[in-house]
Amino acid sequence: MSIATRASASLQTTDPEISALIERDRERHIRTLNFIASENYASQAVLECLASHLNVKYAEGYPRSRYYQGVALVDDIEQIAIDRAKQLFGAEHANVQPYSGSPANMAVYFALLQPGDTVMGMELSQGGHLTHGSPVSFSGQFYKFVHYGVDPESEVIDYDHVAALAGEHRPKLIVAGASAYSRVIDWQRLAEIAGSVGARFMADIAHIAGLIAAGVHPSPVPYADVVTTTTHKSLRGPRGALILSKQELAKAIDRTVFPGIQGGPHLSAIAAKAVCFREAMEPEFRAYQQQVVDNARALAEGLIRGGMKVVSGGTDNHLLVVKLLDREYSGKALAKALEGAGVITSMSTVPGETRRPAVTSGVRFGTPAVTTRGATEAQMQRVAQIVSTIAENPSDEAAIARLRPEVEAIARELAPVLPA
Ligand SMILES: *Cc1c(COP(=O)(O)O)cnc(C)c1O
Repeated sequence: MSIATRASASLQTTDPEISALIERDRERHIRTLNFIASENYASQAVLECLASHLNVKYAEGYPRSRYYQGVALVDDIEQIAIDRAKQLFGAEHANVQPYSGSPANMAVYFALLQPGDTVMGMELSQGGHLTHGSPVSFSGQFYKFVHYGVDPESEVIDYDHVAALAGEHRPKLIVAGASAYSRVIDWQRLAEIAGSVGARFMADIAHIAGLIAAGVHPSPVPYADVVTTTTHKSLRGPRGALILSKQELAKAIDRTVFPGIQGGPHLSAIAAKAVCFREAMEPEFRAYQQQVVDNARALAEGLIRGGMKVVSGGTDNHLLVVKLLDREYSGKALAKALEGAGVITSMSTVPGETRRPAVTSGVRFGTPAVTTRGATEAQMQRVAQIVSTIAENPSDEAAIARLRPEVEAIARELAPVLPA
């Protein structure tokens, strides 16, 4: 094969091993029900951008201010992505270059903080993210994080406690947002607390960006100095991230993203973000996000009817966490048992956690992915029954095997979504 011929050979020809694994994983998605709260099925249009020749391009810098030639058309693409992001979220400034949610958060911290500064973020075991000050993350190593959490009774954020901690520790920055919190976040209250101690306020909406874009969860944009988000979770775009900010911080944020922590922007992902923002402006997207929330509520109600405890007693958004503190088995054990039946979830720590983070006492369920496949409340009720049955005894392999065809039947009712 000549050099040029080799370059145009298909994946199947070039690497049958990886090709077959990808195909088997595609079939796995179609045959199972994906309740991983951070995952979603991006559209064909988004995937086409990711597979496009834009993968080639180097364009360090920003539109109309680049270090490379041949950038006129990718300048247009990035500018469209920026303009749409600002329009979609009503923001003054947008940076669409962050490779993913974690580097987006890193860029904001580098822009606003000095090493050793005090920052407040949500307790990891109660739903916060690693980049909100975990000791195993750069965030916990570079900055002095003080963590707030939920009220032990209501399991809703204890805003009075946030205010008390802020008064005591005088942080430079208060970070809000979570990876496993099922209630509406009161951005205004948190911004007021930040303002009262002279702190900046950052909202990390990685999980709920789609809900916010559709108006089914309040937006932090009017209240926050900076908003970060991934684009691949509920927002249903490519893997990547976005930073929104007040104009006053635009230069500092742009400089820390590039050249501060990143090199060349991923133009294929930026084109895909532009497409995702356009899709998110459609009326169907609003209907989709409302269905995501309705499905999560139906699932939570069904699980509670089935005898399970749900953190905070339910959900206002796209996810819920079942609480297994009083059970003999862990979150990990239940998540594994559920996978045996074709219900794909992730373990999660819970408020009052007693087990290790690698085992946990919770399982997190999210509805964005199954809702993209067309799932509705009736199917959520059937899933809740199946999950509740398995949760009675997750080591009963015969019961799990009996339930697997029921899950496959529901999966067959849904759209396959993933293109071959
Ligand atoms: C997922 C998530 C991130 C990080 O996103 P990655 O793309 O996985 O780096 C940051 N913050 C929150 C709240 C998240 O849920």
